Amino acid sequence: MRILLIGPPGGGKGTQAKFLSEKYNIPQISTGDMLRENVKNKTSLGTEAKDYMNMGQLVPDSLILNMMKEKLNHDSMDQGYILDGFPRTLPQANGLDEVLSDLGQTLDIVIMINVDDEAIVDRMSGRRVHLDSGRVYHIIYNPPKVEGLDDLTSEKLIIREDDKEHTVRNRLEVYHNQTKPIIEHYSDKGIVNKIDGNNTINEVKNQIEKCLL
Ligand code: AMP
Repeated sequence: MRILLIGPPGGGKGTQAKFLSEKYNIPQISTGDMLRENVKNKTSLGTEAKDYMNMGQLVPDSLILNMMKEKLNHDSMDQGYILDGFPRTLPQANGLDEVLSDLGQTLDIVIMINVDDEAIVDRMSGRRVHLDSGRVYHIIYNPPKVEGLDDLTSEKLIIREDDKEHTVRNRLEVYHNQTKPIIEHYSDKGIVNKIDGNNTINEVKNQIEKCLL
């Protein structure tokens, strides 16, 4: 099963991708997490990507496509995966088509999670993350068992630099202008399912499960 999740920053893609990853036992591929790992390890990709990320801008397509070509070519991806945060532009969607066609693969389903901008700004202000694993919490809607600490490792949760309001608004603009239009690229293939992401995490999860029946 190869699933693509599209939605605004903070729209619940990561949270839903984790559920799907457990349910279908396939990896979640989050370009955001991969980039943050590179920034943390101070790789050359991380150094190039860092400023774009902190400003809420997209990292250049060529860097993303090189990173993803390598990732998707890996044997561990043979059973399928959930793409979370990629592709985010039309050139990336075309690049993904090429990689998939080289591998003789296709996407099974595209799930678009729609959430209102103001709800996003509200959600992001309460968002906390565990940097190493990418696990995401919200102080009200999805709190950790112990305040400020990751459920599995008990390590500290942090507020991401790019979750600050000004940056969130930039990221929303980028989403509307550059990412949302790629849905048309997939509409022609008849595999797009649109979900109302303004609901609770559980309701969104149920809606997604229905699409996958
Ligand atoms: P995310 O955690 O998916 O919201 O990603 C955080 C940041 O990483 C984004 O705001 C971008 O700067 C960068 N990023 C993640 N995925 C991509 C992508 N597919 N294309 C370009 N930039 C990306």
